[in-house]
Amino acid sequence: MERNPTRERLRYIARRHKPRGWRNVWHDPGADGKFSDEGRRVYGCADFEARIIHCVRIVDRYTLGVYLHECAHVHMRHMNGSNSDAQDEFEAEMYAIKAMRAHGIVVPARYIADSRAYIGAHVAAEPDIEHSEPLLKFVYGKKWREHA
Ligand SMILES: [Zn+2]
Repeated sequence: MERNPTRERLRYIARRHKPRGWRNVWHDPGADGKFSDEGRRVYGCADFEARIIHCVRIVDRYTLGVYLHECAHVHMRHMNGSNSDAQDEFEAEMYAIKAMRAHGIVVPARYIADSRAYIGAHVAAEPDIEHSEPLLKFVYGKKWREHA
């Protein structure tokens, strides 16, 4: 399992997951507040109309995860609004985490921690929705029943 994949390896993995017919637009951290990685999750976005994935440039495992998360939204057709936002974000995170592991990458602990916080924020924003057990377990661990 890899902790220090080369840029070449990171880009190879990214290419394997890039949706067909979509284009990537890379952003540098700091160039736009949304893409800053200072103390918060860096930003990515799948523009379904223009078929463009906007993502912070892939420089490490964390930013690879952000890119894979956006690819997941496309592959899983998360634009039709059939799921709650929290469920969409959860599924995209599971895709990104599983994809990294399938390629032999050790998912950084900070990525997992940020992921739980990120989905937790979506859960908090949707108080009237009954969230799935796997989602609640991922966000709250053993205390998930308190949030069901
Ligand atoms: Zn997302």
